[in-house]
Amino acid sequence: MALLFSSSVNTYSPSFSYEYSNRIQYDSAAMASVNPNTPDKVKTKILIISDTHGLTFPTALHPDEAVDVAIHCGDLTHHSTLAEFKNTLSLMESLNADLKLFIAGNHDFLLDHAAFQDKIAETKSLSRGVILDTLFGRDFGARGEALNMLRHTTAPNLFFLEEGNYKFRLKNGALLKVYATPYTPGTDAGWGFQYHGDHDFSINGRPDVVISHGPPLGILDRDRDTPKRLGCPLLFEAVAKAQPKIHCFGHIHNSWGAKFVTWKPTISEWPSHFTDIEHSKSHTLATLATEQNGVHASSHCAENDYPVGDGSTLFVNAANTDDERLSQMAQIIDIELDMVRQDSR
Ligand SMILES: [Zn+2]
Repeated sequence: MALLFSSSVNTYSPSFSYEYSNRIQYDSAAMASVNPNTPDKVKTKILIISDTHGLTFPTALHPDEAVDVAIHCGDLTHHSTLAEFKNTLSLMESLNADLKLFIAGNHDFLLDHAAFQDKIAETKSLSRGVILDTLFGRDFGARGEALNMLRHTTAPNLFFLEEGNYKFRLKNGALLKVYATPYTPGTDAGWGFQYHGDHDFSINGRPDVVISHGPPLGILDRDRDTPKRLGCPLLFEAVAKAQPKIHCFGHIHNSWGAKFVTWKPTISEWPSHFTDIEHSKSHTLATLATEQNGVHASSHCAENDYPVGDGSTLFVNAANTDDERLSQMAQIIDIELDMVRQDSR
């Protein structure tokens, strides 16, 4: 698999290791190898999981099917411990996918330096200034250890994505454009990757897939217990304007499901789920009332009832935990992607 990349903040080297710079880098050798007679689009199978919280799937729910891409939408851990991150890496490695992408969630505060410093300060004050170095060392590892472990995995097809825009060339010849963000609206609970007030979800153009930890406001974001909508309005605005084929997330565990959304022909300057969705042409396709066994699969190609692209988006809340164990299905979505072309830059 060749990997292309486009972002203002991150760059992958051709050897798939991470580098950080402001350069934009493309795999020109891979681009040059494209046959001009290849078809325009290729069917691509995408496995989506989220909120595994360091847990393991029971056999009946473990996604074994071979897919082109596997995506984990964050909350890799519950307590942000090194052992949980290692468990999740093993889980990702166990998936049968050509390309595997994962992001952080609010539970993964060890990866958010500022949030973790706050945790240390809070612990110091609770323990009257006694620094619990051995506890931090045992549970959380050395400074930066977890982040380094995720950034530099030994698996050549496994990528931890920080906030930004990315391009990948898949083994099936497709170009996959992704925007990723771990950020969710702030609470006072000391979580990681929280924002307070404004946040700039800078989605480049029209990506194929938006991967966020939290849902957008108004879609698969209702917390059954409160019951309140807990999605992010700024994320909704950005996604309504970008209109990706898939927007996948988790975070609100009991809003697991899938919803096909048709957008209004013209999107407002400040879009909302009240004003910018064609509700008569939008349909909830799966909820927790769906039998939770195996994986939930649906196809959204041109010949299907709910094709994505050209004014429609499939939203997927892929949270796998019910807060205690992994009891909610992984989802496998088929879509069509453009083949890599010389002009895909
Ligand atoms: Zn979670």
